[in-house]
Amino acid sequence: MSKSILALAKLTRFKTPSQSILLSKRRSAGSKKKTYVICTGILTGMSLCSIASFTPVLSEAEQEMPVATGSIMDKVISSLADPNNRIALRDKPTTSLILSLLVYKACSMKWLIDSAPSIFSYASYTHLTKPINFIIRHTVFNQFVGGESSQDCQKTMSKLKDQGIGVILALSVEMDVGDVKETNASHQSIHMNQQADFFMDATKQCILSAGTQPGNFIALKISALTSPHLLQKVTGVLSKLYESFGQHTSVSSHTLSQNQVCHVVAQHRGLVNVEENVPEIIHNSNEIDIVDFKQMMLLHRPAVMSLLSNVLTEQDQEDWLRMLHRVDEICSLAKSCGVKVLIDAEQTYLQLAIDQAASVMEQKHNQLGSRPTVFNTYQMYTKTALPKLKLDLVTAERYKYGLGVKLVRGAYMVQERARAAELGYSDPIQNTINDTHESYHSAILLLLKALEVTQQRTGIPVTEETSPLSFVIASHNHESVMYACNELQHHHISLDSGVVSFGQLYGMADKISYTLSQFGLPVYKYLPYGEVKQVIPYLIRRGQENAAMIERTQLECELIFDELKYRFQQNNTRQMKE
Ligand SMILES: Cc1cc2nc3c(=O)[nH]c(=O)nc-3n(C[C@H](O)[C@H](O)[C@H](O)COP(=O)(O)OP(=O)(O)OC[C@H]3O[C@@H](n4cnc5c(N)ncnc54)[C@H](O)[C@@H]3O)c2cc1C
Repeated sequence: MSKSILALAKLTRFKTPSQSILLSKRRSAGSKKKTYVICTGILTGMSLCSIASFTPVLSEAEQEMPVATGSIMDKVISSLADPNNRIALRDKPTTSLILSLLVYKACSMKWLIDSAPSIFSYASYTHLTKPINFIIRHTVFNQFVGGESSQDCQKTMSKLKDQGIGVILALSVEMDVGDVKETNASHQSIHMNQQADFFMDATKQCILSAGTQPGNFIALKISALTSPHLLQKVTGVLSKLYESFGQHTSVSSHTLSQNQVCHVVAQHRGLVNVEENVPEIIHNSNEIDIVDFKQMMLLHRPAVMSLLSNVLTEQDQEDWLRMLHRVDEICSLAKSCGVKVLIDAEQTYLQLAIDQAASVMEQKHNQLGSRPTVFNTYQMYTKTALPKLKLDLVTAERYKYGLGVKLVRGAYMVQERARAAELGYSDPIQNTINDTHESYHSAILLLLKALEVTQQRTGIPVTEETSPLSFVIASHNHESVMYACNELQHHHISLDSGVVSFGQLYGMADKISYTLSQFGLPVYKYLPYGEVKQVIPYLIRRGQENAAMIERTQLECELIFDELKYRFQQNNTRQMKE
């Protein structure tokens, strides 16, 4: 590895975006001013048509790419760090670049993003819905969404495939507790189940579309497959049970006896026939640790259902089983089509229920010795994410199934913090962004070490079929991606193992996606689709994220400005020659 690249890799470890080499290169004193001058020049000095019809020519530097010598990973890292790397923009039509620029500029207006939820909710009660939807459809929707149906996405999928990029196709429907109107409980349940069945059928369509290309994923939101109130209720029960289990184990002993478990469970009001149900749940085990306890508390087990029958009504229990059944049907179809299912992480107050559903599916569909189908998502911005990931590694090993992991930082920070403050519980999100970065990088390291240990134990390189663990690094953070590339190399994980993939959202961080694919790394774009009103929560989160990560958004703008400037100069040169 060349010295400069080693230095770069070291520098990029655990650095915040503001410390990044990439950004500091671009944040020269005059850079902001320069880009505005360029923009004005472009928009006033050239007709849009003239630039739009212009086909960019590769610069000499690009024709020589990749530039670095050494291993592929060195080349990947240096290309990611290269400010002149135009790979993601050079084939895009100029009009779409200008649109992206406007969208990113709008995202950097914090006041606009902060008022977006109120604007949408106001519009939905007035006759402004249509014009607002029209504006969204022709701006942010085009930037971040693949279309209104999975068929609409086919063109984008093919274009991405030509660049060696797969997709994580996502039908964008999600529900939160506030979205369900409190009406008659049985009417509510009937309506919810109809909607959930409809969503399941639509997801099957999504799988068939994703399956038109090998290796693709779909993303699945459990909140669209049942009542979010039920997910919240289940999360509440599980959280109390796990917490009191944790309080009863001590540093000297991580396990509890059967009697102690009865004691833990009996402390919770509303649990039924503890003396009968708990022994049946525990099934003669002794020395029960939290891994076993979580496994014992799988809700679909009849004794657990019986234990919780005063907390979860019969309707709740039926709805839970119906939800599991829907997810199971989706995963079975996906498996038969060679499509992988990424179960999205949602708000923390729904998450333990989602985790349990994901774990049940992983146990059923990720048999060791074959490609995993189901992946759960770990939001590393939560304080509990790293211990949870460690526990799940142990669980998968003990209960002999393949662990599928998608690592994200987390997209609900604004909402989570506001809710915690409003309801007076402690903030579940890491205190600072650096803590989140550290947690994210620790997770990457943990998983790569686990892969390396497997390789050392078996003496053969891991592949998708043989590995007990596969994971997706879903991030737009250059430092994290470079960190992962560097650590992949350190831990001797082969590029084409297929065990570690990368993911970015459609419309964001294209430079990362295109660069990774250029060097043959498995990379996927999360491509959501749906009607405008369905994708609004998703679009609001994209706006909030870009507004919060202002430096990243500026960097995206500058890359586009530079590309437009480059085309402007090329166009001028061409016209002068003519
Ligand atoms: C393929 C893909 C799938 C995704 N799926 C999901 C999903 O299922 N569930 C989900 O929640 N998100 C999901 N996301 C979104 C993801 O969680 C992030 O919102 C987004 O990717 C930005 O994170 P980043 O890694 O690019 O990091 P950066 O842009 O470097 O960091 C931004 C993130 O850091 C965290 N952060 C920012 N400020 C602070 C602070 N002050 N304190 C603590 N933490 C802070 C937040 O998580 C914020 O989103 C997905 C993203 C991708 C690319």
